[in-house]
Amino acid sequence: MSERVRRILVRTLYTQPASLIIGALNGVASSGLVAFLSGEFWLYVTSAILCGIAVSRIISVRSYLSETRSYTTRAMELSYEKGALSYAAILGVIAAQTLLLDISAPLDVLMIANAMCYGVGICARNAGRPAIALGQLGLVVLPIFCVSLYLGSLPLLFLAVNMLLLLPAMASITLNVFKVLRDSISAAETSAELAEKMRVLARTDVVTGLANRAGLNQDVIEKLMHIEDGQMLALFWMDLDRFKEVNDLLGHPVGDRILLEVANRLNAVAPQHATISRFGGDEFIIFCEVADRKESERLASKVHAEIMRPMRIDGERLEIGASIGIALLPDDGGDADALMQNADLALYHAKVNGRRQSCFYDATMSRDLVRRREIEAELRYAIVKDELSIFFQPIIDLETGRIKTFEALVRWFHPEKGELKPDEFIPVAEETGVIVTLGNWITAHAAKAAAQWPDDVTLAVNLSPLQIKAPGATLGIINALREAGLDPSRLELEVTESLFLEDNGATEHFMKELSAIGVRFALDDFGTGYSSLGYIQKYPFSKIKVDRSFVSGPNVGKTTDAIIHAVAELGSKLEMDIVAEGLETIGQVRSVREAGCTLGQGFYFSRAVPDYLAAMLLAQEDGDMQKHAVG
Ligand code: C2E
Ligand code: CA
Ligand code: CA
Repeated sequence: MSERVRRILVRTLYTQPASLIIGALNGVASSGLVAFLSGEFWLYVTSAILCGIAVSRIISVRSYLSETRSYTTRAMELSYEKGALSYAAILGVIAAQTLLLDISAPLDVLMIANAMCYGVGICARNAGRPAIALGQLGLVVLPIFCVSLYLGSLPLLFLAVNMLLLLPAMASITLNVFKVLRDSISAAETSAELAEKMRVLARTDVVTGLANRAGLNQDVIEKLMHIEDGQMLALFWMDLDRFKEVNDLLGHPVGDRILLEVANRLNAVAPQHATISRFGGDEFIIFCEVADRKESERLASKVHAEIMRPMRIDGERLEIGASIGIALLPDDGGDADALMQNADLALYHAKVNGRRQSCFYDATMSRDLVRRREIEAELRYAIVKDELSIFFQPIIDLETGRIKTFEALVRWFHPEKGELKPDEFIPVAEETGVIVTLGNWITAHAAKAAAQWPDDVTLAVNLSPLQIKAPGATLGIINALREAGLDPSRLELEVTESLFLEDNGATEHFMKELSAIGVRFALDDFGTGYSSLGYIQKYPFSKIKVDRSFVSGPNVGKTTDAIIHAVAELGSKLEMDIVAEGLETIGQVRSVREAGCTLGQGFYFSRAVPDYLAAMLLAQEDGDMQKHAVG
């Protein structure tokens, strides 16, 4: 029998205090009456003892009932047992005394009936603990049995035999009731235990042992229900960076162990009453009370640092990055839905800002998201609806002042939103994959325009990493060139360093194949990323474009100047063109030319213009040349 079942059975001894009190008072009143009517000294004594036992039992039962939890099962059972057995014994003694003293037949009947009824009744009442019940029955009948034998009259001998038969009969009944009671309690307990296990299981993530989505929801609702005025709750939504790649590369068992390790680390750093859950694949949520915004910031950086700490799995050293979005209640949302939605938004921003960051929600994020969603929905149709066009910005030879290249820059003229900047919709196109279609469209159209220009003017097209990694990327470029009739040597593809961050061989293949037919490559926005010289050496670049933040803008100074000098020098050594981007004034043009840059691009020369204006710029240049020649 399990401890829990035993405890429930012991508690049945206490659960009907009314029957106990009625029984006790009945015995006390009857024996008091017998003592009073007989005037016998010893009956007064035993009655007083019985009364004392009854009172102390009633008091102790009350205290056990009000503080059940603080008593052990054994203590409760023992205490009841002592009271019950002594009460039964004294009651039996009083009945035997009454019989022995031969006071009057009705008093005999009163006491014997009292004792016997008590004995039989108690067997039913206390069947949960049969030893106690049968002990009580035995003790209450034993003195009467003995006196009956002692007095030896025929009716009393019959009474003694009756009692003797009563014992096994009651024992069998009591044990039967006990078994039924025990088995049904056990069954109820087992199913309750099972139900509890299922409930816990349904709320737990099997891989990490943390709460799962259902568990989190439950906990969040509970915490929100008990929130007090002025209390602040924080929801940290964490997403492991590039977990999918790790999982694919090292296999799911390793992936699971990483998740488990992350869970352990979260358990170690999260506050004591925090809800920690795995919300799906590689997303975790911590939900807890914080004193203020500062504390949530501290906690975020603690969590971040803990996750980023290298881990060892199967002897392999792994570094897992994580992005975290944080929303606070009540500042960022009043209910669970708003809080989750805003933490998710903040997480999204953390990821877009380059991952491995914590980001707190702020109201502008919602507005950004709405606009982003609209752009996302409309971008697919922008091409078909002819809302996109390509503008061209000249890149000038700083030596001769002539146009060497036109960089194709996409423009979106939205019927309601007006002109949209590529900085706003290109990232959306990258995220949704539309960039592949869009990129092919741009290359094809730009190549057609470039085919109309003089042969020595080249075309530069920007490529997103995703475009290059898409299947058939090389073919897209080659087709565009063939359809436009543009010689591959007149095409230059601008790529940024972000392309090399997740190198998987596709990039190298793409660049090699196109280089082989004469297409050239420019490293765009140099200086803003990792600026590793390794890429310049490894890949066939013919041009480096120094980012405009080094040329114009608030950060320009001695350091940027020195960098431009160094890059220009490198360019001349490696026989690469160095383009200074963002030239806006004649002063900047002079300064980069003196630094050694060979090419320049910027508003000082021209903004990006539509194709017919680009053609006009070229014609104008040609006209100037002829004028010079004539002059
Ligand atoms: P980017 O490749 O660095 O392009 C140069 C950006 O600098 C262009 O902005 C251009 O208008 C701007 N710019 C040129 N001269 C100056 C100047 O003197 N001062 C200032 N302040 N800015 C100047 P745009 O057209 O808004 O393009 C922004 C970015 O969007 C581009 O940066 C490029 O990364 C991306 N992008 C544009 N068109 C395409 C495209 O067709 N395909 C892809 N994949 N990306 C594109
Ligand atoms: Ca560019
Ligand atoms: Ca650039």
